[in-house]
Amino acid sequence: MDEAKCYEMLREVRWREGVKCPHCESDTIIKNGYDEVHLHRQRYYCQSCERNFDDLTNTVFSGSNKSLKAWVVPDYKTTRQPGQPHLHG
Ligand SMILES: [Zn+2]
Repeated sequence: MDEAKCYEMLREVRWREGVKCPHCESDTIIKNGYDEVHLHRQRYYCQSCERNFDDLTNTVFSGSNKSLKAWVVPDYKTTRQPGQPHLHG
């Protein structure tokens, strides 16, 4: 899964009810291009409070190094397989 797909899924979840400003909860939002570093991160501009935000503003991912992929892609490694029965003696 590539990063574009990750952001697509993130947006689907986060903006399920439409894009809302995380600062003032207004929905008078216009798209404002993409992040220069994270090219798939959509930026938005709130016409109500005149502030910018993006897909990750106010999420656990903003300002952290946590990989977006780690969150979006199910981690199969944590699915524990039943272990071999212990043989005693
Ligand atoms: Zn706002």
